[in-house]
Amino acid sequence: MTTAKTPANFTELGLISPLLARLTELEYQQPTPIQAQAIPSVLAGRDLIAGANTGSGKTATFALPMLQQIVEQQSDKPKSGKGNFVTGLVLVPTRELAKQVADSIKSYAVHFNGAVKTVAVFGGVSANTQMLALRGGTDILVATPGRLLDLISSNAIKLERVNTLVLDEADRMLSLGFTEELSSLLEMLPKKKQTLLFSATFPEQVQALTQTLLNDPIELQLQSADASTLVQRVFTVNQGEKTAVLAHMIHEHDWRQALIFVNAKKACEHLADKLAKRGITAEVFHGDKAQASRTRVLEGFKAGDIDVLIATDIAARGLDIEKLPVVINFDLPRSPADYMHRIGRSGRAGEVGLALSLIDHEDYHHFKIIEKKNKIRLEREQVEGFEVDEAAVEALLAEEKPMAKPEGTGKKKRKNKGHSAAVDAWLKGL
Ligand code: AMP
Repeated sequence: MTTAKTPANFTELGLISPLLARLTELEYQQPTPIQAQAIPSVLAGRDLIAGANTGSGKTATFALPMLQQIVEQQSDKPKSGKGNFVTGLVLVPTRELAKQVADSIKSYAVHFNGAVKTVAVFGGVSANTQMLALRGGTDILVATPGRLLDLISSNAIKLERVNTLVLDEADRMLSLGFTEELSSLLEMLPKKKQTLLFSATFPEQVQALTQTLLNDPIELQLQSADASTLVQRVFTVNQGEKTAVLAHMIHEHDWRQALIFVNAKKACEHLADKLAKRGITAEVFHGDKAQASRTRVLEGFKAGDIDVLIATDIAARGLDIEKLPVVINFDLPRSPADYMHRIGRSGRAGEVGLALSLIDHEDYHHFKIIEKKNKIRLEREQVEGFEVDEAAVEALLAEEKPMAKPEGTGKKKRKNKGHSAAVDAWLKGL
């Protein structure tokens, strides 16, 4: 943790004027905590470990210094036949995140008038276009590990001259099974480089990586989900009534841009069908969908043309949908870390967001574990008109675990405590 005074505006961070001008255009009024704390050190060349996920402003935290360093190096040493080299490498776990991060970098770089080339490469689409884009090298490459290895083996890109490495969502990268790809890539990189590692959680594998990879890093631990702007609520429902409760909530609150998480690809379609029967149109987003369909659905959702999106955890990481108001766990995520990733889709960059979980008696125990691991404790609430049949729950729980007791099922609808007055006022409107 750093204790130094943190700069309150972008000018104090040491960024150059083309970047400052862009931030003004983007209406970034002040740095987020991670930006304020990390950017000066990153500009000074320090390694960084940051416990932060999407919504914290982490992309700008690495992108702005990286762009600045590249531009400054170019003016020190004008470009000479770049070959197929890359200077700044950003590794990300998913194709959506690759595109999104590259788009952000390009957007931050507009006032460099094309002086910085950024390319995104990821699997699931033809490699030819990506190879063409990599001709003559690139300043910044945003890549998923598997596709990058393929491109290296076809000599489309070389890593020998990387001087900044960013591992974005390191935990996700490892949990998606990229461990071997990652270690092959790390071996190809020069020993001397600046490394910035971002991870929402720090399981053992990530800790091991930080120990071997980083050199005297500064460490920052930040939560993207700001307690004052992200409201988490959990509703107990009767078994078999989740769809009815969800449809009721969607109708009642007239939500726009509600992201609903389920645990299986088939469950996406299944739930969409059931909602359709209740007059709610929902689109689905999961790994079996063709890339074109995923892109179309995501664009539609971002643009506000699609109100309800049902997704698997593939959407839980990295998708930057501005001001997403509601995230709903229809199925609980299997891992407590994924709970944080899912709810991190909402309440972004200071906007008020709502993260709801629907739990029936089979979920009680698992939700307790999620709470414990994430050091949260939520009041169990009920939805009016769908009160839980306590006798049935008692009987079911007794059957499954003789000692277990349902939590909070005897209470009427209650509100979580500890939010600001503004959030409470907003909640009343729900
Ligand atoms: P990230 O955590 O990098 O995915 O960023 C989350 C969202 O916050 C993106 O839409 C960014 O454009 C936005 N953002 C990042 N930094 C700031 C800032 N300082 N002020 C306002 N919005 C920001």
